Amino acid sequence: MKRIRYELLKAIGEEKQFEDEYKAIFKPSLAAMEADWTNWKVIHDKNGTIPETVESLLTADFHTLVDVYKRFLALGIPDKVPGLNAPIKNPDLRALEKVFNYTNGFDGEIADYFVKWSEKLEIRSCYYCEMAYVNSYSVLKKGGVAKKRQFDLDHFLPKAKCPCVGLSLYNFVPSCQVCNSRIKSKKMPNVTCDEYEQISPTSEVAKFDENITVRLVMRPTGKYLLAGRYIYLRARRPYRQYVDFFKLNERYSFHKPEAERLKNLKARYPKSNIKKIAKLLGYREKKVEEDIFNMSYLREKGRCFEKFTRDLLTN
Ligand SMILES: [Zn+2]
Repeated sequence: MKRIRYELLKAIGEEKQFEDEYKAIFKPSLAAMEADWTNWKVIHDKNGTIPETVESLLTADFHTLVDVYKRFLALGIPDKVPGLNAPIKNPDLRALEKVFNYTNGFDGEIADYFVKWSEKLEIRSCYYCEMAYVNSYSVLKKGGVAKKRQFDLDHFLPKAKCPCVGLSLYNFVPSCQVCNSRIKSKKMPNVTCDEYEQISPTSEVAKFDENITVRLVMRPTGKYLLAGRYIYLRARRPYRQYVDFFKLNERYSFHKPEAERLKNLKARYPKSNIKKIAKLLGYREKKVEEDIFNMSYLREKGRCFEKFTRDLLTN
């Protein structure tokens, strides 16, 4: 439910270094990969609809990746070998997976790279759900310290359908295991390819904050068996499909007690009370407000449920 803030790197002038270091992972294998990719295209992309090189795909922006994804799907290469009873993965796709070798290939190095950049990118909580922390941690080992990760890297555009985006930097979303493995896997929210741009955390034009609102609403009594308040994430297409796909209404409903606590807190401490407390203690009103609601702390430290808290306190 939030965008990856690559602009943090721009602010410290390390945007180029971020991409250069990523490309360096592939340098020793790049020439062979380019040759295999070209050979594959000679057979399967005779019209040259995908002129992009491996190198350009590595750091292509998400807008370009969606375009490549569409052109790749248009080649019409089936996932499975057609006409067989037992589903067998199409060898043409498997051959390409070997060129853009993520699983059993570059996955470890890419994970290490993300761990290295996680502080500067402020990778803190799952970009899809914001319900789980996605952090790195250090362990002591012989002769030094090793950094470990407590997160998955999801391919937003599934590499199983389009292997040539399997190593693209701006297709990786640090996420929790529930969002990555149990829910998303190689599936996609039910929206058009063009709409992927609005709902990928790696996309510059994604606007989750403006388009999804967490609310605690009242069910109309008598109409439903389950009376009372419930958590509802209000959103319009394509964000509605995103919320449904990641089961966010259902997953957030467990946290209704926290939502009710926040609502009660807000009712107990309106502006007028905050003013009174501030006067009594000689604190600034902002300070009292922060001590009670922790909004800046949650935002600045990238805590889970930041949007949840902010939305419930402001709506
Ligand atoms: Zn998640």
